[in-house]
Amino acid sequence: MMNKNRICQLFGIQYPLIQAGMIWCSNWELAAAVSNAGGLGLIGSGSMYPDILREQIRKCKVATHKPFGVNVPLLYPDIEKHIQIIIEEGVKIVFTSAGNPKTWTAKLKEYGITVVHVVANIKFAQKAADAGVDAVVAEGFEAGGHNGREETTTLVLIPMVKQAVSIPVIAAGGIASGKQMLACFALGAEGVQIGSRFVASAESSAHQAFKDAVIRANEGDTQLTLKQLVPVRLMRNKFFNDVQAAENRCATVEELEQLLGRGRAKKGMYEGDLNEGELEIGQVSAAIKTIMPAAAIVQEIMTEFENEKNRIAEL
Ligand code: NDP
Repeated sequence: MMNKNRICQLFGIQYPLIQAGMIWCSNWELAAAVSNAGGLGLIGSGSMYPDILREQIRKCKVATHKPFGVNVPLLYPDIEKHIQIIIEEGVKIVFTSAGNPKTWTAKLKEYGITVVHVVANIKFAQKAADAGVDAVVAEGFEAGGHNGREETTTLVLIPMVKQAVSIPVIAAGGIASGKQMLACFALGAEGVQIGSRFVASAESSAHQAFKDAVIRANEGDTQLTLKQLVPVRLMRNKFFNDVQAAENRCATVEELEQLLGRGRAKKGMYEGDLNEGELEIGQVSAAIKTIMPAAAIVQEIMTEFENEKNRIAEL
């Protein structure tokens, strides 16, 4: 364990490397594999009906005796049920995202749960700190999925958030290697949250066709879109082009909502429809070239992190 690292201490983990709780991709197999490898695995509850979430938590508890957590997008329709299940099942760590941190933090903390909130700007980082969270994830423009309207890049965001709050900052967005992790530490982060790299893992529940698309992705293949609804970074495909065409003809919010419809993310990431589905993935997918077991990803990143730290010390 990195003894002086507040993120390792907070969660009781060996490496300050957290696997993002991504809808349709972060199942118990992935979370358990990352936790068993010394990082922190998160179950992504946003795409799970309550009974599925309970089952996933139970399976994860069997598969790992190390700490793991659950990511809860706060705009989830049955949020009360998810929170209740998390409390009943004795989950110790919750990452909340996409909503107001004031709503649930106090209740979760009442049950001794460590709470982290995901933010994309300084204002929300301060709001999360005021709400009493234990750490924040500061997620930059490069990140896949839901994103901030400010479009602040990770390089710019991390030092500003670090300055704004005294709780530990976990960097996210654009991180898939030990070098990128080290760069974030130089900026003031004490941990990193990694999503895209773990989508392309053996254990992730993403459809194989989506995993293959991720490792085929090139520079420029992802873009931030749907800014009139919730800005989201996704892979450019037919669905993306349809959204662009609608925006170019100045479609109303209602028209865009209708075009998006329901279950687009499931269609793309879980069912593998690469044309009509929503394929949420980060910019860094352009640098991901192989699908590996999650434990090997953790090891590779941590080894590179240590090697690069030594290399830079000699410069
Ligand atoms: P949609 O409204 O398009 O579809 C809902 C999807 O969620 C369906 O596929 C449905 O599965 C599934 N689902 C799981 N539990 C429920 C429930 N209790 N009620 C209704 N549907 C449920 O939403 P999205 O797919 O775009 O997003 C799903 C969730 O993930 C949302 O809560 C959203 O906030 C979150 N999200 C978070 C992101 C992040 O970056 N943190 C990114 C994108 C989404 P089925 O088809 O089997 O009915």
